[in-house]
Amino acid sequence: APTEPRPVWLGTSWKMTKTLAEARAYVEGLGPATVPDGVVAFLLPPLTALHVVRATLPQGSPVLVGVQNAHWAPDGAVTGEVSMHQVRDAGAQVVEIGHSERRDGLGETDETVAAKVAAALDQQLVPLVCVGEPWSVRSEGRAEEHVADQVRRALAHVAPEDLSRVVVAYEPVWAIGAGGRAATPGDVVGVLGRIHATVAALAPGARLRGLLYGGSVSTGNADDLLALGELDGLFVGRAAWTADGFTALLASA
Ligand code: PGA
Repeated sequence: APTEPRPVWLGTSWKMTKTLAEARAYVEGLGPATVPDGVVAFLLPPLTALHVVRATLPQGSPVLVGVQNAHWAPDGAVTGEVSMHQVRDAGAQVVEIGHSERRDGLGETDETVAAKVAAALDQQLVPLVCVGEPWSVRSEGRAEEHVADQVRRALAHVAPEDLSRVVVAYEPVWAIGAGGRAATPGDVVGVLGRIHATVAALAPGARLRGLLYGGSVSTGNADDLLALGELDGLFVGRAAWTADGFTALLASA
């Protein structure tokens, strides 16, 4: 039987930007009908703005909303954190896990990432796991093995039948952010293939729910990246921090 076309994922993390008023204005600026058929759009606002984003999206909007982090513990005395259950209760559908900004400066490790992936799946959230190598690792020719290792560790507690519930974003650390050199399809295709192979090696026929690319995505490179058969979508920062920017990227998806 012919296989269903896989959806194209296109989403943005606002990172630590936007007041409530700015969040509301952004969602209003998206307008009602900007998500093309076959596209899964998602917004990851700061936790403070999760409610206003949900409340401002039109009823029945296909746009998924989520958070940029949550703790693995079920509940209890963990000051300053929120649990997967709490973010689910607040309406999150997606939880980003293991962004390099958290791995590099905020104590995130392969172990905490793995615990969070398992906790997210327990709460029926879509885990969006970020992996990627720093430039020093790439320059030594070790990008593929570094990322494969991160993927294996992130999925350490995932049952074989649940691998298809996990989304991975490959985000080379050197390509993230203003001033980063944007990765080309040639830079990323080998790593993407290696991620697919790593997942397939965990269980026969296993495939992720989606494999995305992130790092200086813009309307200038989105088409070339999306043309890669290994990719299911794009995870965008700065270029989607305005409603117009996100709308333009959705149009290219
Ligand atoms: P950027 O961020 O698009 O601003 O490079 C991407 C990311 O960190 O996910």
